[in-house]
Parts: sequence; C-alpha cells; structure tokens
Amino acid sequence: MIFLRQLGSRSCHLFSFSDYVNLDEISLALDPPRRCDYAFVSHGHSDHVARHPAGLASPATVALVQRRYKSSGLTPLDFGETRLRGNHRLWLVPAGHVLGAAQLVVDRPDGRRLIYTGDFSMRPRLTVPAATPVQTDVLIMECTYGSPRYVFPPDDEICARIRFFVERALDDGVTPVLLGYSLGKAQEAMALINRLGYPVIVHPTIAELADVYQRFGVEIGSYQVLNGPVSPGHVLIAPPSARRDRLPAHCRTLYLSGWALDHSTVYRLGVDEAVPLSDHADFSELIRFVEAVQPSHIYTTHGPPSFADYLRRLGFNAQPLGEHQLALL
Ligand SMILES: [Zn+2]
Repeated sequence: MIFLRQLGSRSCHLFSFSDYVNLDEISLALDPPRRCDYAFVSHGHSDHVARHPAGLASPATVALVQRRYKSSGLTPLDFGETRLRGNHRLWLVPAGHVLGAAQLVVDRPDGRRLIYTGDFSMRPRLTVPAATPVQTDVLIMECTYGSPRYVFPPDDEICARIRFFVERALDDGVTPVLLGYSLGKAQEAMALINRLGYPVIVHPTIAELADVYQRFGVEIGSYQVLNGPVSPGHVLIAPPSARRDRLPAHCRTLYLSGWALDHSTVYRLGVDEAVPLSDHADFSELIRFVEAVQPSHIYTTHGPPSFADYLRRLGFNAQPLGEHQLALL
C-alpha cells in the first residue's frame, strides 16, 4: 500500500515502513528486528534488539543490551542530550516502559517534529517513571492495548490482588511463583514484593538484569538468586518461559501481564491465576497520551488497526501503519 499526503510544495518524505520504521533521509532504522547499519533501539526487550554495528539508545538500554548480548555497537544518548544526524536533531524522552525505555524525538530541518514512542506507559511505577508527553507534528505510536476492553484496574487494586495471592499460597503451604518477563516486569514484581515485606528469590536471568537496574539507581530491594529448593515463606519470581518442572513441586503460579484481562489467559498459559500488571499503556492511557501530544498526523503500530478508527472519531488524523508504506507530509 502506498500512502501519499501532500501539502503543496512543502511535501517531504517522512519515513518508510516495512516491518519497522525507517527514517530514510537520515538512514536511521527504528527498532529493526534484524541487523541494520544504524539503528535506534527504544528499549531492551528482545523483539526490539538486534546486533547492529552502530546506533543509539539510552545509557540504561545500552547497558541492558550489553548484558544480554555481551557487546553492543550502540552509543548512549542521555535524556536531555541531543545528537545531530544529517541536519536532523535527535533527542530522547522517557517512555515509561522498562528501565531505559525511550521515545525518540526528531526535529527536522523544516521545523516539523516527529516522535516515535516505542513501547510506553503513562503510569509511574515503582521502578520506572511515566512516559513524558512531548507535543509533536507527527506521532508514530505503539497501541498494544488499543481496544476499549483493555483498561487496567488502579495500581492499588493490582497490588492488593498480588498480596492476596501471595498470602493465600503461603497460608496453604505452597510457594507463590510470580511469572513475568525477565526485563521490566520481574524487577517491578521484585520491588513490589519487597515492599509487601516478603523475602524474594529470583531466577538467574532476572537477577542478571536486576543488577543493571540497581547500577542505574533503581531501588528493587534485596533478593536471593534461585539455586536449589525455595525456603518456606519466600516468593519466587521467574520468567514465563521457566519450565513447570523446574519450579518447586508445591507451588502456585500467578502470571503478570495486561493480557490477564482476557479470561482465556489463565487456561491458555496453563497458570493458576493472572493479574493485569502491565508496562504498556492501556486504552485510556493511549488516548490520554495522544490528547497531551496533540499531533497533526498519527501512525499506529504494534496493536489493533481499529485503534486508529477510535482516534479518528476523536478528531485526530490517524491511520495504522501498513506493510510497504511510504509516508509523506
Ligand atoms: Zn517492550
């Protein structure tokens, strides 16, 4: 599909999209899933990272990528600093997703601004501040939970449900196991469980990344690394990929994900319970973010194409990114 929007003689090439956004004018690939000559990596989740020879990311993301891949060609760009690429000015603002997650702000030489959110959230959490909305002309945004049925409960309620799960499991004499991605969700769970006053044991892959969190000054509390049987009274935090037969024999599992709002999640994943602790924006946050940013053009990605319909009904000029798309302004 070719998309063309022209404003008289001021028409300019913004970006192309295949399975990732490419700012062709300055040869900058945004979160490409495979090796590119020069890339912006918004955060350290594996579907956003590849072995690029050069590129930029926040210092924490560079550290997380180095920890996972042992090396990285990325150059750190701190929040508040700027970098020139061609005659475009690049800077980063927090995305509120996981440690180091950043939105990329591109100030073009024609005075127009483009922002690429990467994964983001508007809720401040224990380990990550909320995303910073910055006004822009063009917004390329993720919309994972871009359907009205995905509205998360208040943080207090989520915390209470996790506490209830842990208390009940311990009362029943079984090990409570919280399952969450080893980057981001697990560290948030560590901070939360520490705050609730229970001793924490984590899977080694989680500990490795928790170490980076602590190096960047994030308080996640104390923890032990799993190395044998789990002592009674402890809460185990493990990645969802942890095999059931590697978990304690007498345990109860709680899956931490926004997808917990889908009733099928518990059965689909074979877990005992699920709670919608998420590091993505829910539907209401997505709308709130767009209203704060006030873009003249919106391109949505990583979510239901129908989210763009909701935005259009609110009066925004929005469309989902399609394959082989060329965006001109
Ligand atoms: Zn992510």
